[in-house]
Amino acid sequence: MALKIYNTLTRKKEPFVPLRKGEVGIYVCGPTVYSDAHLGHAKSYISFDIVVRYLRWLGYRVKYVQNITDAGHLLDTGEDRILKGAKREKLDPMELTEKYIRNYFEDMDTLGCLRPNISPRATGHIPEQIKLVETLLKKGYAYETNGTVYFDITKFPEYGKLSHRKVEEQVAGARVEVRTEKKHPADFALWIHASPEHIMKWDSPWGVGYPGWHLECSAMSMKYLGETLDIHGGGMDNMFPHHECEIAQSEAATGKQFVRYWMHNNMVLVDGVKMSKSLGNFITIKEALNKYSPEQIRFFILTTHYRSPVDFSNSAVQGAGEGMHKIHTTFERISGIVQTTPKGKSSPEINKILEVHKKKFIEAMDDDFNTPLAIGTLFDLSRELNKYLDRTHDDVSLQPALEVYEKLGGKILGILPFSKKAGIEGTQFIELLIEMREKLRAEKQWKLADEIRSKLQELGVSLEDKLGKTTWKKN
Ligand SMILES: [Zn+2]
Repeated sequence: MALKIYNTLTRKKEPFVPLRKGEVGIYVCGPTVYSDAHLGHAKSYISFDIVVRYLRWLGYRVKYVQNITDAGHLLDTGEDRILKGAKREKLDPMELTEKYIRNYFEDMDTLGCLRPNISPRATGHIPEQIKLVETLLKKGYAYETNGTVYFDITKFPEYGKLSHRKVEEQVAGARVEVRTEKKHPADFALWIHASPEHIMKWDSPWGVGYPGWHLECSAMSMKYLGETLDIHGGGMDNMFPHHECEIAQSEAATGKQFVRYWMHNNMVLVDGVKMSKSLGNFITIKEALNKYSPEQIRFFILTTHYRSPVDFSNSAVQGAGEGMHKIHTTFERISGIVQTTPKGKSSPEINKILEVHKKKFIEAMDDDFNTPLAIGTLFDLSRELNKYLDRTHDDVSLQPALEVYEKLGGKILGILPFSKKAGIEGTQFIELLIEMREKLRAEKQWKLADEIRSKLQELGVSLEDKLGKTTWKKN
């Protein structure tokens, strides 16, 4: 079976065929950087991290673009989120966005999300956005009133094709409208005239103003990925109006299909209600990391499919941690055996177990990135291997098993020790201490040597002296 992706546009799982052979261009709507990211964001970016990791594992050269909204994102009240945040923290708007961009990357790095290849900022792409508005005006899809430019939705009959909403419903669902200068209530702003007190504003052919939020994603995605993208991702709540407006702007400007596969992740719920900043029922990633390990958060999110909502509660994350521990201990057991018995015989029985489970894992991932099922096969694999290891004492090579864990659980899912840097440093430290202990023993400084051993034991690392060599394993 080859990879199938659920396409929101067609509401069907479709075989994945990229536009250019061997290459994938993916754009994901990034954060609006005015405060710390919460677990809802973690679900979104972990979901797309898995998509990128898996596509790379399949051999594609993936160009992953994720924007940073550092301008022009209005609240339902018509207020600019960045300006609101800047006032709250008594910072210059650019200081505020810089602070939260850094925090965002720090959180994502900790959660094991690979960095996008390009992280374009809205404020760095004002000329591209102005150019897109000019094209839309020239082609008759937009009109200007008092320094504000609107997209005329009556000129784009396909408006609504992604969210399957009719224009009348769109009006009902639209943000509270403060302006009355629009031709149609559902027309949306491409460029907004700035009042004198507005801080983040730029010169344009229509006077001083700032871009509408939807515009940046069209301008920046097409700049870096071309006029037709393979995949565009984002949260389900972005489907309307944001992605609908992106389609209208882009397709009206180019006359081409904007996105081949639209992917939307579901949200994190708290007591059945969406976790969001506006509702105040959120837990930031930084707060969550004080309580849970990064792998545990990742594991918790991945045990639910990206298109399904996940209910957050302390006990749910703890339960995920316990599940993850089972896979981790098997992985550690195998690593320990590989370290102490690096030259065992190849075992056809183990190879068979590995082959069967690897196949199931790939089938699950090929089926629209079914991570809960993929994790399920890792549980089964761990159980089978433990059963085998409990009953046999032959010196068999577990190197192939270790590799399967590293590939499936590490490289693809990122739930096995992914903080490689810390892992290597940790290992090096332990080995350095073992070396020091050996020197101390050679000099008959038994007390100090024993102290190293017992201190390591306290830290969860036990040493074993066998045939003049010391090996170690985590308890
Ligand atoms: Zn976007």
